[in-house]
Amino acid sequence: MADSRRSVPGTDRVLGEPDIAATLPVLGVELVKRAVHTAQQRARDGEIEPSAVVAATLAELPPSASSVRRVLNATGVLLHTNLGRAPLSDAAIGALREAAGATDVELDLDSGRRGPRGAAAIAALLDAAPRAGAAHVVNNGAAALSLAATALAQDKEIVLSRGEMVEIGDGFRIPELLTATGARLREVGTTNRVQLDDYRQALGPDTGFVLKIHPSNFVISGFTSEVPVSALRELGAPVVADIGSGLLHPHPSLPGEPDATSALADGADLVIASGDKLLGGPQAGLLLGSADLVDRLRRHPLARALRVDKLTLAALEATLRGPRGPVEAALRQDREVLVRRAERLAATLSAAGIPAEARESAAAVGGGSAPGHALPSAAVAIPERWAKPLRTGQPPVLARVEQDSCLLDLAALPADADGELADAVLRAA
Ligand SMILES: *Cc1c(COP(=O)(O)O)cnc(C)c1O
Repeated sequence: MADSRRSVPGTDRVLGEPDIAATLPVLGVELVKRAVHTAQQRARDGEIEPSAVVAATLAELPPSASSVRRVLNATGVLLHTNLGRAPLSDAAIGALREAAGATDVELDLDSGRRGPRGAAAIAALLDAAPRAGAAHVVNNGAAALSLAATALAQDKEIVLSRGEMVEIGDGFRIPELLTATGARLREVGTTNRVQLDDYRQALGPDTGFVLKIHPSNFVISGFTSEVPVSALRELGAPVVADIGSGLLHPHPSLPGEPDATSALADGADLVIASGDKLLGGPQAGLLLGSADLVDRLRRHPLARALRVDKLTLAALEATLRGPRGPVEAALRQDREVLVRRAERLAATLSAAGIPAEARESAAAVGGGSAPGHALPSAAVAIPERWAKPLRTGQPPVLARVEQDSCLLDLAALPADADGELADAVLRAA
């Protein structure tokens, strides 16, 4: 015992090993030392050989100094709010690296003078949605709504339908967000039905704007009627459309999901959307509309409190200008391809003695987009009891528990992660 204790390599020696030393600039000495101490203790306890301390330290080291962990999304929900919504495109990830240091985010390199912050991201948005006269970017969709309400309707009324009073999640409700800005709500119609005349009767000198909110996480069916933007424009008051998902154009796989270009063409004066839903970009709130309205928002004092980081601007521009990312790829994938992937994965697991079966499955867009729309998908069903070990493994795998099975749905998982998923299940088993 005393011998083996003496032969456990000391902390400084382990820290000096090239593989370990290379991690110090990224992780910092505190984190690395903690991993060394854990490995040394395991050697002292006789759990590992003293010669294995360096390898055990490396295995113990977290991949980054942040506790945020990459997870494998096998839930079948493309935009999972709890998993950070849209996974970014390679173009956006590259842009984040480039923007991480000192940047020209607010400098015109030509003249050497201060330049308009985020001009390149705005230009990319306007190139992608030329119907908009101007655009502005804030921290998220909720920030965009509160900026519009504050700048255009403080001490005034926002006219909106009772069928569009949406709770976005985690107890946050759009009506409460709006009244928190000092605007008053003028509710019209009922939960299931509203007519243009209901809006007309509510308009008056106190009207700030008419708000159309896309019910992005629920559907009402049956005896219903709503008033489209194309009719609301006849009222003569400014029309703000909160479309939620961030589609800039109609999407072939998602009929019924609103998009910014159509809303503007229908007569919306301002369109509000999120950047990290169907657009597939970073968290951001997009405001697209008439130059006059967007300018009022941009110059409002609150705009400074809601402004976005250089990382967001870089990732947003790259999302718009670069090749399509994982969200778009997932929306367009073929069920046959997913079924073949599921069958291969099930065969690998079965060969290792794990009860696994490939199945057709229905995936969802999620994250406040395309409610009720099922995406054709495929999954591998394994026993339900493995959901937790998978979730707490490394990398964590998030599955969907359905009818006493743990479903590994492949719709939201890039194909190049199938091997990693199989390894994770084998380890959990
Ligand atoms: C998601 C959503 C919001 C909130 O946007 P965040 O980017 O999450 O702040 C607002 N309105 C609608 C209709 C939404 O779908």
